[in-house]
Amino acid sequence: TGGTTPAPTGNRATLSPGLKQATPVVVDHATGSWIHGTDGKSYLDFTTGIGVTSTGHCHPRVVAAAQEQCGKIIHAQYTTVMHQPLLELTEKLGEVLPTGLDSIFYANSGSEAVEASIRLARMATGRPNIVVFQGGFHGRTVAAASLTTAGTRFSAGFSPLMSGVHMAPFPYAYRYGFDEDTAVEFALRELDYLFASRVAPNDTAAMLIEPVLGDGGYLPAPPAFLAGLRERADRHGIILIADEVQAGFGRTGKFWSHQHTVGLVPDIIITAKGLASGFPISAIAAPTELMAKAWPGSQGGTYGGNAVAAAAGVATLAVIHEENLVENARVRGEQMLAGLRKIAAKFPQIGDVRGLGLMAGIEFIDPTATSSSPVADAASAAKVQQACIGEGLLTLTCGPLGNVIRLIPALVVTEDEMTTGLARFDAALSSVLG
Ligand code: PMP
Repeated sequence: TGGTTPAPTGNRATLSPGLKQATPVVVDHATGSWIHGTDGKSYLDFTTGIGVTSTGHCHPRVVAAAQEQCGKIIHAQYTTVMHQPLLELTEKLGEVLPTGLDSIFYANSGSEAVEASIRLARMATGRPNIVVFQGGFHGRTVAAASLTTAGTRFSAGFSPLMSGVHMAPFPYAYRYGFDEDTAVEFALRELDYLFASRVAPNDTAAMLIEPVLGDGGYLPAPPAFLAGLRERADRHGIILIADEVQAGFGRTGKFWSHQHTVGLVPDIIITAKGLASGFPISAIAAPTELMAKAWPGSQGGTYGGNAVAAAAGVATLAVIHEENLVENARVRGEQMLAGLRKIAAKFPQIGDVRGLGLMAGIEFIDPTATSSSPVADAASAAKVQQACIGEGLLTLTCGPLGNVIRLIPALVVTEDEMTTGLARFDAALSSVLG
């Protein structure tokens, strides 16, 4: 359906079938918002490697920083010898982290950083339980998968999972058929009910939340909900962890997505993805006295805080500041949502359009269903996602039911590129659902 044929170089057939491929595209090279395939076609990339290439593909500043660092030292191993890029990154990250979260630990991937945050919360509180929110995606390692409720495909078949994980509802107003206030009230009431019925608050180490659900459906958490979590965390001595792996680093039009809730400061922030424009590096940040509960030697890792990745991270932060990319994410995000809402009005199969900054979710439903809450239509989402490829636009689906298309453009996306992306999305919708 995509109409593209990857060039028959190398051997794709022996890659694990456990990898579910979203597109047949094989990249030759990429720049900014564009991927150029070995098929000779150019694709507008609204996937950014799942929200990673924040400064666009191969930003010259990031490329130069990485190349220069490669000539100095590639792998320094930060518990053996410290290196300059990591010290510099730590200083620069400190400038964008909320006041008080001044201690940083580095790893390689989002999953590892999620695990580090859970280890820290348990070590600091001596409590076993973690509360997660339905639809959250926190990674694929066994512990991170145990915390993930964005789809059973992420955890089915390899139980037993890590124990002590309990799920509370996420205020998914559209699915419940509620207005936002009712959804928040419902979700907080259910959280309190969980605390009363199954998970004693003083047995609870942490609440772990994505301020904008990512793989679970691209849903911003209403500020009143996050404020309610903060209040309960304070009341019960529970550590509030914000998983900013996908929504952080400028993507939502604020540097951190939890900052849409005025005055909210989590106890631990987890970041990865956009941090180094594509180089693998992740981090958790926490107050020094909290991080000090991780005794020397309890944290580490061979590759964590890699020198080339750290140099790319320093360059990424410089580009975000100098090119005003957080503001660009806000403005282009407004353009994207407004454009999508206009398009959605033409297609009854689109039940909901939502998002924050450059994270937009388009939820497909069966418009003929008569039930009180929406009936998911994953087939339409899949067909539209495939038709987009034929139009020269790369997108991804998400949500436990697979009926949401997510758009994740680079923070450098221009007004023209956004207009082009929206027109291509509209054309794909018309070709499949028109
Ligand atoms: N948390 C969130 C919010 C994520 O979106 C992801 C990745 N999609 C992860 C954690 C896991 O990150 P990684 O794939 O780098 O392990």
